[in-house]
Amino acid sequence: MITESLIPVQVEPQSIARRVLVPSDKFPEAPLNCHVLHLAPGARTATHNHHDCELWLIIAGRGELIVDGQRRTIGAGDVVQLEPLMCHEIANLSATEPLTFVTAWWVDPEALRQGYLRNIQSETHASEAVHLILPAFPTPNGNLHIGHLSGPYLGADVLRRALRLFGTSTYTLNGSLGHTNYIAVAAKRRGESYYDAAEHFTGMIKHTLDRVDIEYDTFVEPRPSAHYHALTADIFASFVKRGLVIQRCGAVHYDPARDRFLFEAQVTGSCPYCGADASANDCENCGRFHDDGELIDGRCAVTGQALELVPFERFYLSLERLRPALEDFRAAAFLPAELKRFMDWILSDTLPDIGITHLADYGIELDIPGFEHQRLNMTFEHAGRLFTAIEQLANATEHPQGWRAWLETRTVKLIPFFGFDNSYMRAILFPALLFGYCEKLIQPYALALNYFYLLDHQKFSTSRNHAIWGDELAAQYGPDATRFYLSLTRPETQETNFSLPMFEATIRDLLVGQWQAWAAEIQDRLSSHFNAVVPEAGPWSLQAYRFYDDLLQTCSRVKHAYMPETFSTTRACRELNHFVELARRFGHETEPLNHIAARPREAETHLALEMMALRTVALMVMPMMPRFAKTVLDALGEASGADALSWPDPPMFIAPGRRVDGLIRHYFQPTPSER
Ligand SMILES: [Zn+2]
Repeated sequence: MITESLIPVQVEPQSIARRVLVPSDKFPEAPLNCHVLHLAPGARTATHNHHDCELWLIIAGRGELIVDGQRRTIGAGDVVQLEPLMCHEIANLSATEPLTFVTAWWVDPEALRQGYLRNIQSETHASEAVHLILPAFPTPNGNLHIGHLSGPYLGADVLRRALRLFGTSTYTLNGSLGHTNYIAVAAKRRGESYYDAAEHFTGMIKHTLDRVDIEYDTFVEPRPSAHYHALTADIFASFVKRGLVIQRCGAVHYDPARDRFLFEAQVTGSCPYCGADASANDCENCGRFHDDGELIDGRCAVTGQALELVPFERFYLSLERLRPALEDFRAAAFLPAELKRFMDWILSDTLPDIGITHLADYGIELDIPGFEHQRLNMTFEHAGRLFTAIEQLANATEHPQGWRAWLETRTVKLIPFFGFDNSYMRAILFPALLFGYCEKLIQPYALALNYFYLLDHQKFSTSRNHAIWGDELAAQYGPDATRFYLSLTRPETQETNFSLPMFEATIRDLLVGQWQAWAAEIQDRLSSHFNAVVPEAGPWSLQAYRFYDDLLQTCSRVKHAYMPETFSTTRACRELNHFVELARRFGHETEPLNHIAARPREAETHLALEMMALRTVALMVMPMMPRFAKTVLDALGEASGADALSWPDPPMFIAPGRRVDGLIRHYFQPTPSER
């Protein structure tokens, strides 16, 4: 027997001091770890969880314990048992005395599994919060190509449909980007006024969204309403009043040949951080904002003329003053790892002042003497556009109310969808602007990022006509096939590629070759052996158990893929494709039972389960292929109206005795090469 005297316990000045009671060098075989912890007066541990089981014995002091959101006070003599993966923190409530406790922890694989299953169970309840999905508002200076769709717009639509199936109150806010000379350039090209051009392209964008079955609940139009004017002016005034917006002199680009100041899209040069081609403030390559004065080798985007940098008095957002809000946001929001890296990169430097006014003959004017010709730029408009979208949403409900009251009376989860090149706007400026105007009333909850979608391994380019328009693809191949392929190849963790031959092969081999074939095989069995009448399940074979288990697991995995915190359409597609393959295999494997003269009752169970699986798969794929799903549900005689739909958890049988005879059909439009 090895014994060791207890190491003396001392109170130390740090907020948390610890003494090791069972040192691993002396007791390498000990089945547990044991420490004495002292929490200084007023101190608190971080909220955390882990895979170990943990036991606390409170020796002295009193404190507050928070476990999975539940609070209770604890004092000397109390014993606390923590199961694996429970989120916990402990605070010392005393202002003078330390809180001292012994903690012991050990690994128990079975307890870990139980802890995991408990967490998964609690995830399956519909969220009480209202989810607001916010795809980056499109710039109305052209149509939407499939690169635009594959990222924010389709992703947002799939999430909206999925959350609604879960029973979560969900809305998508859409609209046009704020005022920018990207639109002014397009207007000039068309020989139209700024707003006429913006409305023309907004119409085109809405048409494309419609052709791809992408829905939204409200749309902020390009022409500013009186409400929008007043709101944006108020946000600006409030920032000025609080010292978050300052007036000062900075450098901007000037074209001496034409005696003009140039901003945003009118300027091109090299990014000071990564050297890639960049506009006055934006770099698509590294995603970082740069000031006009930092751009390297600034030139006129139209003529290529070298520009001068000249002093210019305007208004700047003093971002550094909002650093604490950004640090809170960084800690609280669900961010993809790449965005955490990006935010830490930005936050490791002093945050810059961001120019928010410029010279333009469109946009929201400044009501400030001496600045009558300046307008707010699109950067500053982001907060106003969000609140206007919420105002429109709040006004469209049964009890109209203003955006602020609407937000104050709800728990809201805001989920922006955007491309990596928009990271600075969405992960830095946007949360800062929201906080600057209404503190913690609304902040992004989870951010859904996408990378570039390539066309034949090259970036989409409207000017080089290297693009496929969303409405044209959907017209040729059908909205469901378009949505499915874009969901399957969505650039979620890296750049991905669109190729027309691969798209056609996916329709032929997967959607028709597997999905449609599966529905047809079920109908074949039903018609040939059961006179097209749904059988009632009888005894379960071992294969039936296994198949049911595959279905339940797929249901759980696809649900996780549809959760905003871990959203992934590529994963949902892959899980479903895999399941359809398993389901066909199950059908083929069990089919011979139907040909035995005295058909065993297991055969009825198998077909009833296959039909249950088809119904379940239709509902699971509905966010991505709403038309296919509706057609299948209708053919199965199941309700398919929006109010009747819910996530198939648990999966349900098709009513026995029902006649089903319409499953053999063309669910997908023939491809142009097949016509
Ligand atoms: Zn860059």
